[in-house]
Amino acid sequence: MIKRSFIRLTEPKLKCDLVEPDPKEPEAIPIPPRMILLLNEPLDSQRESIIKKGDMVKRGERIFLYKESQEYVTSPVSGTITAIAPFTGNFGKVATYFVLETNTKQDIEHSFAEFAANPGIENADRYLRGIPGDPPLKQLADPENRYNRIMITGVDDDLMCTTRQYVLTRFREKISKAVALLKQLTGINDISIVIPATMANLSAFNGMNLVRVTSDYISSLPPMIMDKHLGTPFVPGKAGKDLDVCFISVEAALSLVRVYEDKQPVYDKVITIIDKTGKRSRVTATIGTPIHRILTQLGVETAEQDRIIIGGPLRGIAAYTLYHPVMPDMDTLIVQARGEIPRVSDYPCINCGKCVKICPSKVPVNLLVRYLEAGLYQEAADSFDLFSCIECGLCSYVCTAKIPIFQYIRLGKHELMKIESDIKTEAQDV
Ligand code: SF4
Ligand code: SF4
Repeated sequence: MIKRSFIRLTEPKLKCDLVEPDPKEPEAIPIPPRMILLLNEPLDSQRESIIKKGDMVKRGERIFLYKESQEYVTSPVSGTITAIAPFTGNFGKVATYFVLETNTKQDIEHSFAEFAANPGIENADRYLRGIPGDPPLKQLADPENRYNRIMITGVDDDLMCTTRQYVLTRFREKISKAVALLKQLTGINDISIVIPATMANLSAFNGMNLVRVTSDYISSLPPMIMDKHLGTPFVPGKAGKDLDVCFISVEAALSLVRVYEDKQPVYDKVITIIDKTGKRSRVTATIGTPIHRILTQLGVETAEQDRIIIGGPLRGIAAYTLYHPVMPDMDTLIVQARGEIPRVSDYPCINCGKCVKICPSKVPVNLLVRYLEAGLYQEAADSFDLFSCIECGLCSYVCTAKIPIFQYIRLGKHELMKIESDIKTEAQDV
């Protein structure tokens, strides 16, 4: 049960960074000799996989694990698979990784080319998942989803992050093509561009539906945009097919434009790197490049117990290894020195109330966290509004006792969604 069905969100004030006025071209990271590809499907020792160690793959070839698999990862280079192993991500999420030794001669898989002349969402979903920006093609192609509006987001969703703003500024002349292509692909005509208010007078956006957001932190999060700009109050627990708005990053939209222009998928991801001194650099790196390659090329040193954050300081996740690959949605990498990492503790809540005061969703965080710490996730959802949380991370940021509240919240939601999905799978199997 959700206690409050519709809520109006409040807006705490922390400022996000704005992109530099005249950003430099990103530095290109060369394709490394070994790539890591992550597939969102676990290995099953009881089944025989159709991809094996020693198999050759072409650039643009889709890799499926089993004959019946629906999930795939596309190889961004041609090469030889030298290892296939389980990968455990955050919250125990299990996937599969492939190590790919790259060939000097690049063979290209051309299957997509014949569909490029007639853009359609089914074929886009069939060939283009995982291009830079990670367009939500699976969701858009799902007939159960009833989207009637698309928001192309050119604003970043955490402090210090500027990649989307960079892409929006640098490629703004192509935005009208992205809008036209998305209309053609999806049949959805209501498409808006979410831009920083400071860019609203750029001529490239003349005549477009614009949503102008301020640089106040959380203004750019989808629930806030829906609440403040679309007049759609946030409904706890509503997501995916329950919503009529689909959010797509500006890099994802522009990657689609490039793919249909070039008639082949693209794999070079723009990433903003922030080193231990706070210095910001920007690179393009092929999806699958281990992140140590980027740091080495930029001369960013790392030491034992430093922390690498994928994403921003409030909503990002830690990378456990320098071999973590560049992913389609990896916009920012932050390196924090060991001594600068914000402390977390296992001290109990002292009921100072700061988390409750700052929470834009008015969640009773001080009570919620007690249930989450005890692993009582269903009670946390039923009685303390776990699903009203819009995942801004501010409660952890202000917590006096340094409790990792946000991590508990994500874990609690993950566990409950896993239970729900297991129940659905069991019901389908009966
Ligand atoms: S992360 Fe914390 S502060 Fe933000 S919405 Fe969720 S409970 Fe509230
Ligand atoms: S901010 Fe931390 S210590 Fe203060 S009430 Fe919230 S959970 Fe408790």
